Amino acid sequence: MNARTSHPDGLTLTSQDGALRGYVDPQRRGGRPSLEDLWVMQGSLCDLKCKHCYTASSPQNHRLVQIRFAELRPHLEDAARFGVQRICFTGGEPFVNQDVLEGRAARNEEFLASLECALGIAPVEILTNGRRYIRNHFEALRSLRARHGERLRLRITLESPEPARHDGIRGKGTFAQTVATVRDLAAMGFVPVLTAERPLLALQTDEEIREAYRALFDGLAVEVNLIENMLESGHELTRLQQAGGAPHPEVFVTANCFSILGKPPESLMCHFSRCIQKIDGELRYYPCPVIYDDRRFELGVTLAESLRRVYLAHKNCYAYCLKGRGATCRTQAI
Ligand code: SF4
Ligand code: SF4
Repeated sequence: MNARTSHPDGLTLTSQDGALRGYVDPQRRGGRPSLEDLWVMQGSLCDLKCKHCYTASSPQNHRLVQIRFAELRPHLEDAARFGVQRICFTGGEPFVNQDVLEGRAARNEEFLASLECALGIAPVEILTNGRRYIRNHFEALRSLRARHGERLRLRITLESPEPARHDGIRGKGTFAQTVATVRDLAAMGFVPVLTAERPLLALQTDEEIREAYRALFDGLAVEVNLIENMLESGHELTRLQQAGGAPHPEVFVTANCFSILGKPPESLMCHFSRCIQKIDGELRYYPCPVIYDDRRFELGVTLAESLRRVYLAHKNCYAYCLKGRGATCRTQAI
């Protein structure tokens, strides 16, 4: 195992008053660990710089590096051996790379190659801002849909059904661009999954929210999914770090938190998912896409070694996954 791999080294496993830290073991099938969701973080490069972006993605952020197809392929094949049932690509914006952003290439060919391979293994979801650069990939997406049908899904963030609210977070004009993309994808036969964070919405009930989104796409098939809790803002963490603060405090989730908060360990992503991130030139496994670039949670460089116990110690373990109604990246249509 690589020297950088440290989980749970450096974490306190017993609190000062003797409580044990909560942990989540990987799912097992047929007597061995198994994987349901594999997340691939395709870098922190993005054409947008949204105010609340948890990875602080932007056109200048290269902290999480894009993963090339040749690097990813053996990990996708490994995931197949562990029974993967869904592969999700996120970022950053998966449809851009430096060449696309700077106009030297129209398409992110490496990503398309990874997508093609992943679809041969399991159903795939792409999380995208749906704004501009996905449009250069429409022909490729149409072709993938013709061959793979419902196995390919697109999850697109629309912060609010109100243009000003969405643009206030993502940038002027982005609402109109994303809505146009959703309409075009629906016309191709996709059922776009509109994603929003409930705490940012002014509307209260599921019914009000659903109706407001549906009204934007009258007659077109879309799904609406809500994320219940907000992740901590990556830009805030960067500011804190630049000011000399500690951006990653340790949070003590005790073993009995699961029953107190009504969230069984089996409902958490770290039970059934793993996430690949490329940091400092190396592919690393993390328990989930909620935690990134934090050595305390690196589980190894292979999927096999990553399928081990995860101790809950990150701020997001409590604030995103366990608190209130809880949250997961496996969103539910409302
Ligand atoms: S589009 Fe997504 S990845 Fe890009 S800056 Fe906004 S929230 Fe971050
Ligand atoms: S953030 Fe959530 S899914 Fe990730 S390790 Fe913590 S509890 Fe598990």
